[in-house]
Amino acid sequence: LFSLRDSKGAGLVQYPAEKIAEIRDRINIEQVVGRSVRLTRRGQRLLGLCPFHSEKTPSFQVSPDKGLYHCFGCKAGGDVFKFVQELEGVDFPQAVRLLADQAGVQLPQEDESPRQREERTKRDRLFAMNDAAATYYEKMLDRAPDAMRYLTEERGLTKIAIKEFRIGWAPPGWQNLADFLAQKGFPVEDALELGLLGRSPKEGRIYDRLRGRVIFPIEVPGGLIAGFGARRADWVDTDKEGPKYLNSPESPIYEKSSILYGLHPGRDEIRKRRRAIMVEGYLDVVGTVMAGLPEAVAACGTALTPKHAKTLRRLAPEVICCYDGDDAGREATRKAAELLLSEGLSVRVVELPEGEDPDSFAQKQGAESLKKLVDEAPSAIDLFLRRARAAHAGGGVAGTTKAMEAVKPLILAIKDPLERDVSIAACARQLGIGEATLRKHLSSREPLPVPRPQPQTRALSFPVVETELLKLLLESPAEVVQALGERAARNAFTSPAIQAAIDAGVVAHETGASFDAPRALEAMQRAVDLDEATMTSLRQTLVDARPEKEDLSACVTRLLKAHKEHALRELKKRIEQETNPDVVRELAQEASRLMAMRI
Ligand SMILES: [Zn+2]
Repeated sequence: LFSLRDSKGAGLVQYPAEKIAEIRDRINIEQVVGRSVRLTRRGQRLLGLCPFHSEKTPSFQVSPDKGLYHCFGCKAGGDVFKFVQELEGVDFPQAVRLLADQAGVQLPQEDESPRQREERTKRDRLFAMNDAAATYYEKMLDRAPDAMRYLTEERGLTKIAIKEFRIGWAPPGWQNLADFLAQKGFPVEDALELGLLGRSPKEGRIYDRLRGRVIFPIEVPGGLIAGFGARRADWVDTDKEGPKYLNSPESPIYEKSSILYGLHPGRDEIRKRRRAIMVEGYLDVVGTVMAGLPEAVAACGTALTPKHAKTLRRLAPEVICCYDGDDAGREATRKAAELLLSEGLSVRVVELPEGEDPDSFAQKQGAESLKKLVDEAPSAIDLFLRRARAAHAGGGVAGTTKAMEAVKPLILAIKDPLERDVSIAACARQLGIGEATLRKHLSSREPLPVPRPQPQTRALSFPVVETELLKLLLESPAEVVQALGERAARNAFTSPAIQAAIDAGVVAHETGASFDAPRALEAMQRAVDLDEATMTSLRQTLVDARPEKEDLSACVTRLLKAHKEHALRELKKRIEQETNPDVVRELAQEASRLMAMRI
């Protein structure tokens, strides 16, 4: 028997070893990990951004043949059970049950402790009741022409979208859902816990908590319904009391701080498009998805939390905030941007016209206009800096101080030292102050981490990874040409001499001409005037056997990384020297585009 103490201390939980083995055999670790981490194949291994620590360059690796994962950054690692434990925050027995479910392996029920069995059956029951309620609300919408007209005509929703998001209608009246649930035999206590029903404090009467409201079921992985968002129907006179939006309370299956509306249906698109669009409300999610942006999500009746940010970071490196064009929306954007930046995400911001939300904007201006706004959205820092400058223009020193104050939290939230450094340089130039002044201001309360020191480069030496790739090109041209092409790395060499040699090698490969070390040296000599000592050392490097065979794709990754850092440093220099504010802004935009690039 495979036995482990339940981490919650409920007693010894035992699973037959053959059941564990059977799950391991049937489950594909690539698929399980791939649901939350975007994996790219590199030879035998799969690489992705680690879901357990904040990073922008993949150091998280999965070996499907060994059934293991490992992160070189935070040293997390283990098998598929460990992965599920860590990711879902569950104990080993729960991970076994989750994976057994997916693998279709029948676990003997007596292996659960009585408490665990009770918990599991309760969760099953709660999900089943929410599903029944959602189906009921859907049916009620079909019978409520006013509500349907509001959704289709006033809000412009299509019938398909209504069906896809399972949007429903809770009719006015106190006993509709209560009667339905009783008739289906669902326990009242469960319905109270889920917030579907309420109990009047005086008489203890049971009543429908959601009445006269449009219902948005909130789905979690697996398409299960964890809770509901409900919008008040302003056209129903009888029931105008209550807030505009009502949400399910926290329950054993509904955790507000981590659930995002739209995440379940949008998960795959978010991973593919490498970005999520954060909007304010349920209708905004539906409207944005209908406009052809399926990566839209919203927090459900709560401000964005670090848990939300972490959930998103597992799927994509970038979030585009697209909140309402009003003061509340702008304030929410600022807070969200700060939080998302501090969790290591890139943040861009869509500025909607005053009074518009993404849904209304798409309807008035068309889906293409919304897409364009999203695609061209400036980085959060650029936008807030521009706003702060506009607000305090002509305010002299005091105005500049206010503008600095406005962007300070955003700059401090950037995790990567080099990226923060470039942002500081750009902001200083745009504010017309010295970098040192801004830096001093930024560190007045919190100490600023020291920027990464520039790597010491000896004159006439070449970046190791670049000579390495040139050697690889000489050995297996087809492979290297393909790898460089696939990852858009052909022009990413910082040494002009090596770039010239690579260019010559690529051309030779494509035209079927021969290419060898002497020809590579020739190309380098033509591009750059190299002295004899350098030539000798180069010749030596190129003919030397490579000490250890580094993976080609790892080399390309290092190349791209170095290229990005080099480009950022160059941009920083240009920003520091540029006097034209318009050019500075353009350079800053270019820098944010570079920063958002994930290698
Ligand atoms: Zn890690």
